[in-house]
Amino acid sequence: MFMLLSLAQQSNELHERLEDLMKSWESSLEKMRPRASYDRVRELREKCATTFLRRYSADFVPCDCPVCDTPGEYSFSKLGYEHRKCPRCLTLFCSPRTSEEHLERYYADYEAPKAWTNLLLQTDLERKIVQYFPRADIILDVLESRESGCEIPVDKQAFFSHAHHCPEEVTK
Ligand SMILES: [Zn+2]
Repeated sequence: MFMLLSLAQQSNELHERLEDLMKSWESSLEKMRPRASYDRVRELREKCATTFLRRYSADFVPCDCPVCDTPGEYSFSKLGYEHRKCPRCLTLFCSPRTSEEHLERYYADYEAPKAWTNLLLQTDLERKIVQYFPRADIILDVLESRESGCEIPVDKQAFFSHAHHCPEEVTK
């Protein structure tokens, strides 16, 4: 009986901790990706992607996998852009796709990429906390468990700003 009560109590405690974690996660997610701003960027993307497609689709060219040159298989279509999946390396890519010149024009002239960049800049710190710091923790754990170092394939600034608070020998 005591054991059952103890298990029930542990289960309640775990449930409360999980709820706290979820609230914290949702709060961080809202800071990283404020719903109103994110919805506005998404609307802009749809508008700009549709306008861009209408203007330049006649110049789109079919292409194979940009990673391994294998012909892709149809996966889905979104806003008129056909997506293919590479059966060899599983890369998802657009085909037919625009030219590099028109793509540069999209990033230079259209509202959506600018709005997305602004949103990323505004939420830079929150994104690092939510996305990068947990990864940095994993890498630090690996470094602590090894005698030799390894390359760090993440945002170095975010990694080192987080690692700054860790023991010096770990970050050498
Ligand atoms: Zn491929």
